[in-house]
Amino acid sequence: MSEESVKVAVRVRPFNDREKDRKAKLIIEMNGNSTFIIDPRSSIDEKKQFSFDYSYWSHDGFVELSSGKLEASDSSSNYASQQKVFDELGRDVLKNAFEGFNCSLFAYGQTGSGKSYSMIGYGVNRGIVPIACDQLFQKIEKQRSATLRFEVAVSMMEVYNEQVRDLLTRDNPKGGLTVRQHPTSGCFYPHGLRIVPVGSYADIERRINEGTENRTIAATNMNTTSSRAHTIVTIHFDQIIKNDLENTKKTSVINLVDLAGSERIATTGVTGDRLKESTNINRSLSTLGNVISALVDISSGVKRKIVVPYRDSVLTKLLQNALGGNSKTIMIAALSPADVNYDETLSTLRFADRVKRIKNVAIVNENPMD
Ligand code: ADP
Ligand code: MG
Repeated sequence: MSEESVKVAVRVRPFNDREKDRKAKLIIEMNGNSTFIIDPRSSIDEKKQFSFDYSYWSHDGFVELSSGKLEASDSSSNYASQQKVFDELGRDVLKNAFEGFNCSLFAYGQTGSGKSYSMIGYGVNRGIVPIACDQLFQKIEKQRSATLRFEVAVSMMEVYNEQVRDLLTRDNPKGGLTVRQHPTSGCFYPHGLRIVPVGSYADIERRINEGTENRTIAATNMNTTSSRAHTIVTIHFDQIIKNDLENTKKTSVINLVDLAGSERIATTGVTGDRLKESTNINRSLSTLGNVISALVDISSGVKRKIVVPYRDSVLTKLLQNALGGNSKTIMIAALSPADVNYDETLSTLRFADRVKRIKNVAIVNENPMD
């Protein structure tokens, strides 16, 4: 058993073209593990200070190589590249998975803050998920033997409007997959979600690309943007160990979650389906906030007997283990550097500050096979 706090990283992205055109003001500073946010409306440069396990400065100090890859411009630069973020966060996830722990990695932040960049990445700037999958299969190739066998499978789903859709098929039931509760473990799961066996990095990459494409198609058909959906990629990783007397199986479930944009959705003048959609999107994210508050109260010993409201939304049902159970969990809070986003960025920092106070107890999932 291992009790530890949820690890929290913050990462600030470069200005985008629009922000550059508008001469946006930089409101984030980092120094060691401290992150400061400057209130652009205050005349005295008022700063609020936060501290997290990891602070990633990806705002400047980089060059674009001819391949398109972004790297630190020189040795004095403190630019955090995709590789650096993977080396510190992704490697830990893999190490824990090989030890038989469940792992979860979340990205939180407003739309356009850099969640997908950190998780999946764009083009040659691959994010944590593809690099981790690549390394997973490299490690498997090195370690497999007559007495050690590996099985990997992947699923990919989207939670949108309180409905679960399988992203590894175009054939979803109307109204989405039903979420059921496992009779013995008590865990919630989407009934009928495809869990596809994969034998190589190329296999898994193909599946994730297929899922990403299905997601985009669905968003276009519904005339919405995919930024309102939560995307969950799950890797089921089993190690089968052959012993003289019996075989044992170590299992690890790795949840990689790109959350919907955390910005408050304006509901003024919105009616009908659109209103339902807005409130449902808020429901999963606001329940996530409530679940985290309850978990913080429990972890800090403020309250012991408290009901954590996992059941109030689909997202929190599916992520129950990742949030307050048997999992080693990391959250990346993606920050916009620009003054116009001050309110949203401050609320992201406050959210991240609560999350780091949650303590989880993870156990190695190792059992004899029957
Ligand atoms: P989100 O998923 O939060 O909506 P994205 O990850 O799509 O946001 O990022 C928005 C834009 O910012 C993209 O064009 C992306 O390439 C760029 N971007 C985000 N983070 C970084 C980073 N760390 N370094 C360079 N560009 C980034
Ligand atoms: Mg995104």
